[in-house]
Amino acid sequence: MIIVLKPECSREQLVSFKEQLENNYAVKVNTWEGVHSTVLGLIGDTTAIDIDYISAQDIVDDVRRVQEPYKKANRKFHPENTVIELSNGTKIGDGGLVLMAGPCSVESREQVCSIAKSVKASGAQILRGGAFKPRTSPYAFQGLKAEGLDLLKDARRETGLPIVTEIMRTSHIDMFENVDIIQVGARNMQNFELLKELGKTNKPILLKRGLSSTIEELLMSAEYIMAGGNDKVILCERGIRTYETFTRNTLDLSAVPILKSLSHLPVIVDPSHATGKSWLVESMSMAAVAAGADGLIIEVHNNPKCALCDGAQSLTPEQFDKVAGKVNGLKKYLNENE
Ligand code: PEP
Ligand code: MN
Repeated sequence: MIIVLKPECSREQLVSFKEQLENNYAVKVNTWEGVHSTVLGLIGDTTAIDIDYISAQDIVDDVRRVQEPYKKANRKFHPENTVIELSNGTKIGDGGLVLMAGPCSVESREQVCSIAKSVKASGAQILRGGAFKPRTSPYAFQGLKAEGLDLLKDARRETGLPIVTEIMRTSHIDMFENVDIIQVGARNMQNFELLKELGKTNKPILLKRGLSSTIEELLMSAEYIMAGGNDKVILCERGIRTYETFTRNTLDLSAVPILKSLSHLPVIVDPSHATGKSWLVESMSMAAVAAGADGLIIEVHNNPKCALCDGAQSLTPEQFDKVAGKVNGLKKYLNENE
């Protein structure tokens, strides 16, 4: 961290400010005294320093970080990739490609079980499905809630596929005890109380990027979970809000290599919510794999026209089968030609 002091800063103020920094934080302060102003360079762990607090000091002219404000998620302090292993042995982040597929929302036992069987046959390793749905309208279908969770578990029993499903509130954590991966949706990416509580669990967490969140904010949200002791975080790029209206969101594919260089956590891509259009899912899935994604999460419905949620972006099982074949072929090619 670099702090530029105002020219009028007195020697006593400088000495006392340096002491305050060195006593309160795990840092050593270097000083460069110039003709017009003095610059402090803080060496050490600056993650706990509130940059707003520093800039609010009367003697401070400017302050900036030279090191990222997240530590546990940072590749600099953990160079090897984090590999998350589920109880059935499925690995995320080990250099392979993990396909998570299933309906936006669980609608019935028949629906979720039939989709689970078909996506498994196409090579998906994890079943997705929403039981608690964050909908823009309070009048829209809100999910089957606890019953939806039970139906997902039925589908897991029938197929052996681990399940990933979204949590919306802290008080539900116990209810998600038997879920393989807990999803934090885009709308809750900065629900810090939820993130802190999830940090106390040892469940893998699929953390989706917020609609208007920066890459650094996504990593800071991962840091919230990891700071609590849970380092099993999977990052998900699912498109962000831009001025473009053709697609539901704008898929920020550059986030994939950026996240992978800044962090050791696995990164997956959701081409369904990113585009909102089923016909764009195949090309964006291919692009995501080419960009280095560790996996994809794709919405699949047995009858998209009648889906209770997100039918326009859902693939049919046949379409998913084709996409799965293509992305796995591409991944194999990339791994063989590294
Ligand atoms: C979902 O995956 O069902 C979902 C609601 O996604 P997001 O939080 O990315 O909008
Ligand atoms: Mn959806």
